[in-house]
This record gives sequence, C-alpha cells and structure tokens, in this order.
Amino acid sequence: MKEKLLEIFNRLYERFGPQHWWPAKTRDEVVIGAILTQNTAWKNVENALDNLKDNGLLELKKLYKMDTETIKELIKPAGFFNQKAEYLKNISKFFVENRGFEELSKLDTKALRQKLLNVKGVGKETADSILLYAFEKPISVVDAYTKRLVKRHKLCECSNYDEIQNLFMENLPLDEELFNEYHALIVKLAKEFCRKKPICNGCPLEGI
Ligand code: SF4
Repeated sequence: MKEKLLEIFNRLYERFGPQHWWPAKTRDEVVIGAILTQNTAWKNVENALDNLKDNGLLELKKLYKMDTETIKELIKPAGFFNQKAEYLKNISKFFVENRGFEELSKLDTKALRQKLLNVKGVGKETADSILLYAFEKPISVVDAYTKRLVKRHKLCECSNYDEIQNLFMENLPLDEELFNEYHALIVKLAKEFCRKKPICNGCPLEGI
C-alpha cells in the first residue's frame, strides 16, 4: 500500500506541480477559512473572507471582540452564517484564552487535536485542516474528495474518517510537507478529473 500511495502522489505531483496550500496569507486566515469552508464551495468562502478583510476582521483577536451580529452579516456569502458566526466566536475565544499559536504549538499533535475537537463547531476535518495548514503538524486531512479517491481506487475497505486517515498516516512518512501537498493535490484531481462523473481518460491516475 505504501508504494501505491506514493505512486499516486508522484503521479499527481508530476502532472499538477506544487499547489502552495493553504490559500491564505496568515495562520489566522487559515483557521477562519477552515470554519467558513464547511459545507460550501471555496468561491463563497473567498467572498466572506474579503468582507472580513475589508472590515479589518481577518484576525482571531478582533473576531473575539466583535459582536456576533456584525460577523453574521459579513460572512453571509459562505452560507449557514448564523451557525458559522457562532463557530467563529468559539474558535477565536479558544485561541485568545489559550494564548495563541505560540502556546498551543507547544502541545503534541494528539493533545492539540483533542483540544480543538472540544470547540463547538470544529469537527475532525476542520481540526485536521487547522493542525496541518496553520500549525504545520504532520496529519492527514480527509474530505469528500479523499473518500471518493479511496473508494474508486479501492485503496481500502474503509469508509469512515478515522480509517481513511489511518490508511494515509500508517503508510506514509509523517512528513508535514507531504501531507500538505497530498491533500491539495487530491482536491485538484477532484476538480479536474475525479468529479462526480469521473473523467478517467487522460487522468494522471488512469491505470492505477
Ligand atoms: S478520474 Fe478515474 S482514473 Fe482519475 S482518479 Fe478518478 S476514478 Fe481514478
């Protein structure tokens, strides 16, 4: 399995090149984007991020102090804005109360993941996205595109989040850069070829 997972990675990397993820300038922006992207397309998230930026609110400390109604209004383009405004308040409170990235970085990945999962609004995919792209911890992010790839290429009999995450983490070196690029490349693959209706002809993974 290790060879197969590496072959998939190598083929994707050769075709698509580095993806330079996460699409954000700061770690705060990664965290905010990871909440906003739940159940919506990235394009909608960009509009919500632009609104926050235009109002000087693309920082966790500032969101923590801002009233929820204002946040709701600004993040409307990302959908589920009532819920997501509450989640943004929760995650910003978490970072402020735990004295930010520097203090939290001192925790090991498992302990930090558990703390993140205790925040209402942070599920496994969101927690792992924050761990990988904001804290640069070597962890695999599992999203709908990853599940689709695993299923279509019969990489394992697994279907739930933990099993698929283990598939990658137990068979690949625990290298943050590798996990960073791998997840980004799977997203690229899903957008270009492995869509709901797959375009296998010409896909870099054709024949695997
Ligand atoms: S498009 Fe086809 S060949 Fe490409 S990853 Fe999806 S199922 Fe595999």
